[in-house]
Amino acid sequence: MTATSRFFLAVLATFVLLCPLDTWAACEDGQLGTCTRNGCKGVRECVGGQWLGCEVPGICGKPPVSVNDKIQVDLAVPGTEVGVLYDGTDAPGTFNDRSKISVVVNTTSVALVPNILAPAFGKSVIAFAESRQPRMWPAGWTNAANTVQVPLDNNLRFNVTFWILAGNFATQKTNAAAAVLAVNNAYKVEKAGVRIAFVTVMDAIAIPAAATLTSTSPMQGFQTQIGFNAGEINVYVLGTVLGTATSGLNFNGTPVILLGQNALTFPQMLEHEIGHAFVLWHTAGLPGFNFENVMWPSISAHFLTEGQTFRMHFHPSSQLNVFGLRATQRVLICGEPMTDECPANNRRLWTDGSLPPN
Ligand SMILES: [Zn+2]
Repeated sequence: MTATSRFFLAVLATFVLLCPLDTWAACEDGQLGTCTRNGCKGVRECVGGQWLGCEVPGICGKPPVSVNDKIQVDLAVPGTEVGVLYDGTDAPGTFNDRSKISVVVNTTSVALVPNILAPAFGKSVIAFAESRQPRMWPAGWTNAANTVQVPLDNNLRFNVTFWILAGNFATQKTNAAAAVLAVNNAYKVEKAGVRIAFVTVMDAIAIPAAATLTSTSPMQGFQTQIGFNAGEINVYVLGTVLGTATSGLNFNGTPVILLGQNALTFPQMLEHEIGHAFVLWHTAGLPGFNFENVMWPSISAHFLTEGQTFRMHFHPSSQLNVFGLRATQRVLICGEPMTDECPANNRRLWTDGSLPPN
């Protein structure tokens, strides 16, 4: 090695010492830059020609994993809507009878709801659907993703016997059949979960008592002197009821109904009196109802709330239960307001005439 080359190496070594390799990544001191750490946007600062680590705000962690709970309702009519009322506890607190509407695909409807952490109130889901009985099902929510699966049963089918005491029998028979069709259609549209199955129309015009029984006669007079089919709704069609040919009455909560001889051409009257037989009460003056509800005392339309549908099925004194049509299902005595287990009588999941869901 020559002296020249030794000098050259010494210069080179000095140069390397003066110019550390990492100075190539220089930034200007005090400069700020954007950066990301664990998916969070942050800021880094240049100190001594070096970028420091990325500083991220304390609230920025991993984005929260969204946990959904699922309410699945099975064996519903394809393409129709299912409505559910559900209770529980979520982050803001407990809630009672929150509602959700879902469309049925094949025979299943699925409602995804934000995570419900624990049961509350009735600890249940209540499902309503076309041509299906309303069903109350336990909901054991936890903080994990849960599915509550509610199986629905077909309509409750009940039978009606008409006893014709007045008018032209053939005409009354035709009108009775038409009234049954209209009432069944209303039950379907209103998702009432009931359906008139078998209809019998009896000619009682020639029975002597048909000329003497009036709407103020005792109920037993009709049953013993005209006839009575136990386990069915019995409708006696006589000249007038309480003075008019177009009105009706039900002997409070019994399966015995009287109709004026022209009332069968106004099917809502039949639906109203059957409503009484299923323990529904008059809705006039109650909040959340108007004249379009079928239980308004002067009847015009056919609407039923989901609260009313629930009561028809669940009340132990409803003739549906007296007939033993829900022998394995639970019963509940519900008044007008919402309680832990009862939806309010005026609760509606779908529009009824001019009244929207509430
Ligand atoms: Zn009434």
